[in-house]
Parts: sequence; structure tokens; C-alpha cells
Amino acid sequence: MSPLHGLTIDSIRSGLLEKKFSAEELAKQTLAYAEAENPKTNAYLTLSSERALKTAREVDAKIAKGEDPGALAGVPLAVKDVILTRGLRTTCASKLLANYIPPYDATAVIRLEQAGGVIVGKTNCDEFAMGSSNENSAFGPVRNPVALDRVPGGSSGGSAAVVAQDTAVVSLGSDTGGSIRQPASFCGITGVTPTYGRVSRYGLTAFASSLDHIGPFGKTTRDAATLLQVIAGRDEMDATSAAAPVPDYTAALDGNVKGVKIGLPSEYFDGLASDTGDRVMAAVEVLRKLGAEIVDIHLPHTAYAIAAYYIVCTAEASANLARYDGVRYTTRSAEAHTLAEMYRMTRDEGFGDECKRRIMLGAYVLSTGYYDAYYLKAQRVRNLITRDFTQAFEQVNAIVAPVSPFPAFKIGEKVNDPVAMYLSDIYTITGSLAGIPCMSVPCGRTRENLPVGLQILTRHFDETTMFRVAHAYEMAAN
Ligand code: GLN
Repeated sequence: MSPLHGLTIDSIRSGLLEKKFSAEELAKQTLAYAEAENPKTNAYLTLSSERALKTAREVDAKIAKGEDPGALAGVPLAVKDVILTRGLRTTCASKLLANYIPPYDATAVIRLEQAGGVIVGKTNCDEFAMGSSNENSAFGPVRNPVALDRVPGGSSGGSAAVVAQDTAVVSLGSDTGGSIRQPASFCGITGVTPTYGRVSRYGLTAFASSLDHIGPFGKTTRDAATLLQVIAGRDEMDATSAAAPVPDYTAALDGNVKGVKIGLPSEYFDGLASDTGDRVMAAVEVLRKLGAEIVDIHLPHTAYAIAAYYIVCTAEASANLARYDGVRYTTRSAEAHTLAEMYRMTRDEGFGDECKRRIMLGAYVLSTGYYDAYYLKAQRVRNLITRDFTQAFEQVNAIVAPVSPFPAFKIGEKVNDPVAMYLSDIYTITGSLAGIPCMSVPCGRTRENLPVGLQILTRHFDETTMFRVAHAYEMAAN
């Protein structure tokens, strides 16, 4: 059994303070277990033994001296491989960066380690975070620990899988259009996309900069909230990080949702697998019984979200991926003789099909003559979607919805149909376009025993209400 089985951030802290185990022992056991179990899922791309043991020993030394060991003291955790770690290979699950060693740490990584968090390893994902199944990784797909013939979701599939597999207690993922919430729902854990700007993106490899977020995964709302607390807040290194004060998230976890108005958007219940819809509606009933007031609402521009998202994100991706050209970061084609050949051949050999598709789509929608017809129009639709939410939040404090129209699908099932794959993001993309906080909390299983997620969305910077609703539901349902 995993040495992490049943452990949370709080129970690790008390275990350390009561001297039941040391951070070093826990790190060693976790690394050994992760090494033995990883072949089943392929969730870790790199294990970072040396770094993990160094941090763990520092935590033990602080405890021995009677100092505060930090909010994440001794907690074994994992980081998605699109987030930079100094001196530790960061591949973005791309052949191009197979040997890339970053010269600096992402701000979120610095904050994790300052709080005593022990980085066990870097997790597999879709190449440059583009995908919904983790099948676009140059290092092979991740298998869902709940059902090994199924995908864990994507793009942060590895970060969700390690928590579900008990090879990490919590982890960091990134979300551009659903990449934290959807894998969390597929793997039966909790995943949080904070407000855009809540967490610094410094050191997060850019996919679509106006949509990219770093966020936490955990087994409980409390663990996810604690992790967010550590990484949130203004960072001088990211001009888009917000100066808004970060409230004490765990203080809101009191189980009280009496009188909280929760909106149920009718547009999110069309085309839903019946099992998934049943689970979500059962969760809504739990919230109603707890005293929440359920209100029917409308988000009328939902139908245009996928089209708008796949224009905005490809446009930004085509610009962001231009830097992988064989000059600075990447491997370089050995066959090229001229500069132009080097660019072309490096990119042709290095990028996987999905990245190439997005670069081409993005270059197309930004080109002269098409810019107004596609890119500008998509930006207008994005504003309308944001306005839908702003208007809904005049009526309600939170919105609940499904995360994905269906549970985890079989590996290979959608891989040759990009449009079907894109449609799996239909309920997550809207929150990303609006930049509001949204999360997935487990809400039971289908008849095939596959996890379903309940999505909770709130106003910009109101993560507190989102956590309050999630936690109250979690307490009542379990
Ligand atoms: N599945 C979506 C995409 O492929 C979202 C990815 C993400 O959030 N990084 O773009």
C-alpha cells in the first residue's frame, strides 16, 4: 500500500510534529513507491529524488530546532512538466524539450518549496498542454489509475493521476480551457482553476497567455485550498498577477451554505451522458438540503464558446510556440544545412501533430484579411461570454454545472477525431474564457464505476465562496 494512503496536508504536519515519522522517511518511501508504481500509469516523466530529499531534510531540521516548518511541511507533491524547475528536466511532454534543463524556478515552485513542500517529480501531460486526454504526449499516454484502459483526461493528466494513484498528496497543474478540472473529474479527485491573475504565471511555459492558469489538485477541498493559499498572490515577475489580497481560504470551510444562491445554467445540461447528469443533479439536491437556494439561470452565449476558444488559443499558441526553432531551447535537426532549413526541420521533426495543427490554425486566423473575421470576432464572443457570467452573478453567488459531458473514455477512442476531442471541453472552456474561479469536486460514480465531477464557478477573486460550497458538499456527501 502507498505510504501516502489516507494522508492529507494536515495529517502529515501533525505526524511530523508528533515525531511519528520524519519528512525524509516519508520522502524516501514515496519515491520508492512512485518508482515501483509509475510503470502502471506513466504519470511521472521525471522523479526528483535528490531535490526531494534535500527539502525534506530542511523541514526535519526546522522541526528539530522548533521553527515553523511551513504550511506544506514535508508534503510529497508533484509538478506538471510545463512548469519550470531549476536544474530539473522540464519537457513540456515535447520531443523538442526532451533534454531541457531550466535555469530558473517558476514562482509557484519557489513558493511551494519555501512552504516546505517536497517535489517528488514532474508529471506527464499533453504536449505544451494541448489536449484533453494526455494522449498527445511525446512520452506516451498516461493511464487513468481508476481504470487503466482509460485516459486520465488532459492536459494535466499526470498531475491528476499521481494524486489518484497516491504517489503524491497534491500536485500542480495548468489550465487553459479545462486542463485541471477535466482530469480531476476523470480521476475522481479535486482540481481548482483560480481566477486569472491569482497565481503568477512566471515560469509556466506559455500556451495561450490570456487563458493560462496554474492551479492545484488534491483529494480534498481543504488540501487544494491550502495549496492555492501558498502559491496565490502578486508576483513582480508577472505583470498580469493580481495585487488583490488573498483571503484565508480554509477559514471558509465551515460547512455552511445556508442561503447561498446557486445557479443552475440550463445550457449545460444538453447533450450530457445521462449517468453524468444524474450524478450532478443528485449533488444539487444535496446542496439544496444543506440550505442553498437553487435558481435556474441562463448563460446564452455558451454555444459559441468552443469556436471562440479554439480561435483565441490557437492564435496565441502560434505566437508562443514560435520560440521553439532550434536556436535556444530545443533539440536541433541534425539534417539541416541552412538557417531556414534548421527552423523548418527542427519544428517538423520536433512538434507532434496537435501542436502543428494549432500553429497552422493560429497563423491562419491571425493572417491579413482573416484577423477581423476570426480573431476579432472571437474576442467579441469572449466578451459576451464574460458578460453572461457577470449578469448571472448579479442573481446568484455561485454556479454549479457538469465538468465534462461524459466520464473518462478509452485510450485511443477519440484520438483520430480532433473535433470530438475539442467538444469534450464544452463545459470548462466558458469559465476559462471569462477568467473566473472554477473547480471540480468528485460527485460519485457512473454505473460503470467511473468518477464524475461537479463544477463550481464563482465571481472573479471569490475563490472563498467556491471552496465553501465544495467543502460543504464534500462533507455532506461522504
Ligand atoms: N483541452 C483544451 C485544449 O486542448 C484545454 C487544454 C488546457 O486547458 N491546457 O486546448
